[in-house]
Amino acid sequence: MARYQAPLREINFVLNDILDAGRLTRLPGFSEATPDVLSGLVEEAARLLEEQLAPLSAKSDAGCTFQDGEVIVPEGFKPFYKLYRESGWVGLAQKTEYGGQGLPYTLGKVVEEMVSSANVAFTLYPALTASCFEAIEANGSEEQKKIYLPRLATGEWTGTMCMTEPQAGSDIGAVKTRAYPQADGRYRLEGTKIFISSGEHQMADNIVHFVLARLPDSPPGVKGLSTFIVPKFLLSTDGLPGARNTVRCLSIEHKMGLHGSCTCTLTFENAKGWRVGEPNQGIHNMFVMMNMARIMVGVQGLGQCELATQNAIRYAQERRQGKAASGGETLIEHPDVRRMLLTMKAMTEGARVLAYETGLYVDLSRHHPDAAVRQEAQDWVDLNTPLVKAFCTDAAVELAALAIQVYGGHGYIREHGIEQILRDSKILCLYEGTNGIQAMDLVRRKLTQHEGRLPRRFFERVRNEIPDDAPLRFIAQPLLKAVEDLEATTLWMQDALRTRSEDAAFGGADFLRAFALTYLGYNWLRMSRAALRHADAGFAKSKRVTAEFFVQRLLPQVHALCGTVRNPTQSLMSLSAANF
Ligand SMILES: Cc1cc2nc3c(=O)[nH]c(=O)nc-3n(C[C@H](O)[C@H](O)[C@H](O)COP(=O)(O)OP(=O)(O)OC[C@H]3O[C@@H](n4cnc5c(N)ncnc54)[C@H](O)[C@@H]3O)c2cc1C
Repeated sequence: MARYQAPLREINFVLNDILDAGRLTRLPGFSEATPDVLSGLVEEAARLLEEQLAPLSAKSDAGCTFQDGEVIVPEGFKPFYKLYRESGWVGLAQKTEYGGQGLPYTLGKVVEEMVSSANVAFTLYPALTASCFEAIEANGSEEQKKIYLPRLATGEWTGTMCMTEPQAGSDIGAVKTRAYPQADGRYRLEGTKIFISSGEHQMADNIVHFVLARLPDSPPGVKGLSTFIVPKFLLSTDGLPGARNTVRCLSIEHKMGLHGSCTCTLTFENAKGWRVGEPNQGIHNMFVMMNMARIMVGVQGLGQCELATQNAIRYAQERRQGKAASGGETLIEHPDVRRMLLTMKAMTEGARVLAYETGLYVDLSRHHPDAAVRQEAQDWVDLNTPLVKAFCTDAAVELAALAIQVYGGHGYIREHGIEQILRDSKILCLYEGTNGIQAMDLVRRKLTQHEGRLPRRFFERVRNEIPDDAPLRFIAQPLLKAVEDLEATTLWMQDALRTRSEDAAFGGADFLRAFALTYLGYNWLRMSRAALRHADAGFAKSKRVTAEFFVQRLLPQVHALCGTVRNPTQSLMSLSAANF
């Protein structure tokens, strides 16, 4: 079975030494969120997750069961969810006026990383609840907020995100579910949604489905979508769950992994719903939820990277096999095993800075008193969202495969729990907008938004921080070269978008990886700088060696990727579908 020990030292290093999370206390409402308080809460969450959630992971791999329209979640999930919500973790970052804990979003991401390492399948139940909260908070009426937000903040009720239909996956504009207005102001929903996570279970007293549907007179495509609340149980006059609404679970999916998370087909037959926000503004309302959910999925990826990495390191430190040139006999002494472990460390630790920094920008964009700072932070959130989502989740699959490699044949055998990481991780590249869609978002939207201001901010910041002092020269020069190549490729992309859009789209995924690796280079620069003054010599050495590995073995990929992106695609696109 895979073991999990929360990487508290790493977490505190990123929060305090790299990101200066102490500045959160200067934001209105967060004066008490000092580094000590945050670190205490992280430790408390770590204990709970290590002791109570991680041990459920292997068992929950047996999956959910479906019986007579009801879903039974894995053994242990229901009592753990009760404990988790009663301890206030579900509404950690939600406003206190609605019963949340009012703590920084950044802290929420740290806890989410640990939950995702401990048991990634469990994550979706509280995480989609938080996303549903955010969508209603942003666009709901005062009455809807009063009814739903306190129940979602405490996790008493859970939330879902109902978009996908058989014909509407990436192409959300193809949604067919209909919402017919009724005389009493409510709506009658008719349709079928597939792949709905947490769509049915008995862990909460009610389930709030946040549904994308089409009004009868709406225009086609994304411009004709609206959002609705459809509760599993209708509310009685005292506000408590009463009669069952006619949204039902028809079946659950049998999946490659993530078995503890139920994935439901839901039918809406004469189901009662309430519109959220203005008619035909559904895609905007859904994007409030989706953007936050994309960061959440990236953090799920980070959690799986950490799980794969720490198990592979432990195993390689313990298993004796052959004699290395150094004379050592454990796997970790063999250069090729070391290559894999350093790849895992460099990607995981670099990705953690990217993910937490994005969380910090969310806090700044929401709470900073200065509008210009809020705007700049929002630019960073916009730029980073597809990077976090796609890079951290692709990395999870890559590192899970490397972990199996480090374990050798034993990694392929179920009892070690390492193959589960690979099975659980793959979905992260697919839901909340596939990673291909993330690449399109980066290239088509984020490079062009505000006349290219978002990538310009990145290049300016990194250039300004590249130092000229000897101890960091090993990373400064290669990073500068990567920035120059990426910047030139960004200009090429912006031009291609105007004149050769297929070239731009073809190169999107490689461009996203090049961008993320350059961002990680910037993160390794900052970590190397902080390590120079770190009190623990062993920790500082580990950071320095991992940074050197990153510079020598991973950062050079940026140049190869940029070269690939700039290749023409005309002949590749000229091959007809039939001749493939
Ligand atoms: C376990 C699980 C849980 C899920 N949970 C939820 C949930 O809670 N709520 C919900 O609404 N949905 C959920 N989904 C659905 C998920 O979000 C979709 O599966 C995903 O958006 C992709 O849609 P699709 O499967 O139809 O693939 P398709 O859209 O058919 O895509 C197939 C491939 O084509 C590519 N592609 C498609 N269109 C384009 C394009 N325009 N440009 C470039 N490439 C393109 C994609 O990147 C992908 O590689 C879940 C799915 C699974 C499997």
